[in-house]
Amino acid sequence: MGKKRVRARSGAPTIPVAEMKMCKLTKEGLTEEIAKRTAAPTAVCNRCRQQANAARDLCQPRVL
Ligand SMILES: [Zn+2]
Repeated sequence: MGKKRVRARSGAPTIPVAEMKMCKLTKEGLTEEIAKRTAAPTAVCNRCRQQANAARDLCQPRVL
């Protein structure tokens, strides 16, 4: 009972893909989403070296 929803709003370990940072996407292996967000990178993460179109997608962004 009450287990039909895969994604809970709070308290769940998984967050919506749209709210994940590149670092998290990399860890989760979400390559499609990564490809979308790295089409025209403007920033790179100082921690995980991932690039992204938007700096806000990175945990420690550095503008390219
Ligand atoms: Zn990072």
